[in-house]
Amino acid sequence: MPLGEITWLRRGACRSSDPELFFPLAPSAVQEARAKAVCATCQVLTECRAYALTAGEAEGIWGGLTPQERRRTRFPAGWRSPAPT
Ligand code: SF4
Repeated sequence: MPLGEITWLRRGACRSSDPELFFPLAPSAVQEARAKAVCATCQVLTECRAYALTAGEAEGIWGGLTPQERRRTRFPAGWRSPAPT
């Protein structure tokens, strides 16, 4: 689904934030903490996180999670792809 069609995104707390905070060229712990603080106040955090996990968004902070945190959620330790049939 194109991002322009996701209506809940218009209610996101990050709407008035600098996009660089959520999609930095050089991620840092400080930047991640600041972005997560915005997400913590967001009324659509649940929708945002579910979307990012389902869509497999690979970049940026979504739903209060970093790309690494989303990967760990989607592919927990010990996860293996199914064997080809
Ligand atoms: S949860 Fe975070 S990234 Fe998602 S819409 Fe809200 S503020 Fe933006």
